[in-house]
Amino acid sequence: MSGDDMMAPLIRSRGEVPVSDGGSMLVGILGTGDFSRSLARRLMASGYHVVVGSRTPQRSKTLFPDGAEVTTQMEAASQADLVFVAVFPEHYSTLLELKQPLAGKTLVDVSNGVRLNQDGPSNGERLAELFPESSVVKGFNTVSAWTLQTGPRDGSRQVFLCSDSNKAKRAVTQICRSMGFVPVDMGLLSSSLEVENLPLYLFPSWRLPILCTLLLFVIFYLYNFLRDVLHPYVTAGKSVFYKMPVDTVNVTLPSVALVMLSLVYVPGLCAAFLQLRRGTKYSRFPDWLDRWLARRKQLGLCSFLCAALHAIYSLSLPMRKSARFKLINAALRQVKEGLGDAWVDEEVWRMELYVSVGIMALGLLSLLAVASLPSVANAVNWREFSFIQSTLGYCALSTATLHTLLFGWDRAFDAAQYRFNLPPTFMLVVLLPCGVLLGRVALALPCAALRLRRIRRGSDDNRRIRFKLPEDNRLNGTEDISHV
Ligand code: NAP
Repeated sequence: MSGDDMMAPLIRSRGEVPVSDGGSMLVGILGTGDFSRSLARRLMASGYHVVVGSRTPQRSKTLFPDGAEVTTQMEAASQADLVFVAVFPEHYSTLLELKQPLAGKTLVDVSNGVRLNQDGPSNGERLAELFPESSVVKGFNTVSAWTLQTGPRDGSRQVFLCSDSNKAKRAVTQICRSMGFVPVDMGLLSSSLEVENLPLYLFPSWRLPILCTLLLFVIFYLYNFLRDVLHPYVTAGKSVFYKMPVDTVNVTLPSVALVMLSLVYVPGLCAAFLQLRRGTKYSRFPDWLDRWLARRKQLGLCSFLCAALHAIYSLSLPMRKSARFKLINAALRQVKEGLGDAWVDEEVWRMELYVSVGIMALGLLSLLAVASLPSVANAVNWREFSFIQSTLGYCALSTATLHTLLFGWDRAFDAAQYRFNLPPTFMLVVLLPCGVLLGRVALALPCAALRLRRIRRGSDDNRRIRFKLPEDNRLNGTEDISHV
């Protein structure tokens, strides 16, 4: 860029000639709403001439910066080289009179879908049907008017584009780059339904992990409520319902965290055992296992959230009035009964170890959570990533399990802990992580580890590779392609 270019103002005042790559292109925008106004500003800042088409140009003129020409829809469509349609799709049919001036030009459809799972055709395909002599490009719908106004540095930079015309797509790609966005080619216009749906998704990969977390929370909460709150009330008429908001939640959260963390490692073990049994890595995993493997990051982050909440709840336990009253009452009883020193060495050691190991587990979990952020994950190579997520992950699981075992100490052998004949929660929650850790140890045995490594390097026990064709397409049951 020359020094003159650097001196040029980003937004010209009325009548000034733009200086940039886009300087020679006149970009039209139909509609004068929020999106149109932001787009006009960004286009002008990138050096394009802009002409805006409105049903009421006189009224809309004041809404646009000086350099933009606001005129009738017909004028704008006739003058522009390329036109953005910033009008809701319900009103596309009102633009039909522009068919002639728009013939041979590129139309950019920026509209979003109304709801997910809507059957086609998409808005983009409908626009292409209405204007068969124009080339429709779908794009910019994932960029908000706000992002356009503030510039791509303060929002998503990706712009998904698709079109049946490569020439039209190239022109829009160029505009997209000039405005500082990153174009992503999504192929033909048939992908436009998917592109229109992109802004409508609500954390699709989080649905199952969040459901799983909530379900486990409800189950463990009810279990703890039954044992710790209802049992004393039923058996001794003692009301400890005050425990419900803090105490019961605080024993529920670590249970959910530990089970969720184990669920991160179960699918990896299933996959490894399946490969050992099949003797090949070239058979597809069942769909449920595929989906589970793809959700490990979300499961891990849900586990981290529960563990972090457990730490905060635990730190605030002494702040509660109930804890203070209990402490004072215990001290008064101690004095009244002349019991003297309340120090119990074993209890002290149990607590010191329990807290220390818990802090370590939370530290390791935080490391895993940070390493799962895309910006961090992109900065490490595959070996480093797998070391963090697998080796350190198993360390976190072992530490969290040890934390729970230390909490239990020898209480598993105390008959009083089996209220309503139900085992204590800590006993239930260590079952899955212990199973996972044992499974991992089994896979580390040389016989299993060597065979698994051979399989993952391409060794195949089944000499003849057989592919199953879909039901309706099958020739003779299975098709033998071992000769290929
Ligand atoms: P808007 O503020 O309601 O503006 C729509 C414009 O369409 C109106 O200002 C109107 O301008 C024009 N229009 C033309 N024919 C019309 C008719 N028959 N009836 C009503 N209006 C008519 O909407 P918007 O937020 O700018 O959104 C426009 C398009 O951009 C939509 O398809 C939307 O999905 C898409 N989009 C918007 C955003 C966003 O952040 N707002 C983000 C991504 C995509 P005149 O009265 O001057 O003709």
